[in-house]
Amino acid sequence: MTEARDETTALISMRGVDTYYGDHHVLKQIDLQLAPGEVVVVVGPSGSGKSTLCRSINRLEPIRAGEIRIGGELLPEEGRALTRLRARVGMVFQQFNLFAHQTVEENIMFAPTRVRGVPRAEARATAERLLERVGLTAHAKKHPHQLSGGQQQRVAIARALAMQPEALLFDEPTSALDPEMVQEVLDVMTELAREGMTMLVVTHEMGFARKVADRLLFMDDGRIVEDTTPESFFTRPASARGREFLSRVL
Ligand code: ADP
Ligand code: MG
Repeated sequence: MTEARDETTALISMRGVDTYYGDHHVLKQIDLQLAPGEVVVVVGPSGSGKSTLCRSINRLEPIRAGEIRIGGELLPEEGRALTRLRARVGMVFQQFNLFAHQTVEENIMFAPTRVRGVPRAEARATAERLLERVGLTAHAKKHPHQLSGGQQQRVAIARALAMQPEALLFDEPTSALDPEMVQEVLDVMTELAREGMTMLVVTHEMGFARKVADRLLFMDDGRIVEDTTPESFFTRPASARGREFLSRVL
């Protein structure tokens, strides 16, 4: 396990981050450093701020206080530097958000060709390689609705990878899936972790957390209440809120 609490070597660093929705104070003084290659699972009750945490890392939500760094560089409020830094961190959502009117392959080619200006032939070759990686080579010319939920989520992962991100954020990637499709998505994520991808994963899949995560964060009411190993959290949570949470989900 790699540990970097130092914001200059961390791939993703948050320091004293506060976010609000109107007057509603959601994230409260978040400090979080992810070292390159680290896999961090985030758990916590509904409404504790897990999605807001993911979204704020890419400035999909504005922050009111604190700072966020990607690869040591301060994430600005807007502009070209934000676009450039955003591309270094990919996101995979619970709802796959694929473009319904594009084929699987076009979905994966979209951002590299539109945002990066990658030539179509090159983007197509990358898409083919990524589809092979997520086990969907035969489905390149299909549209999302012709695929199962698990397959669509694997396309969403391939699409995120097409931008060659240095880190991936997953916000409950298997929560919308039928139970029999959960494992195929977790398998792809496990493989990415083994290959050294830096990952922040919001999930209640305890097996995945135990097997794959280096660290586990327990969030409650907008704060990181525990930052520990999965084993330690699942066997002896340090906080009363952690114990209460586990008694409800296990
Ligand atoms: P989690 O992902 O842990 O369930 P969220 O980050 O989605 O938590 O939400 C944290 C808090 O922020 C909740 O109280 C939620 O109701 C509120 N919230 C989330 N998104 C919005 C929004 N777009 N507008 C207003 N409040 C929001
Ligand atoms: Mg959420």
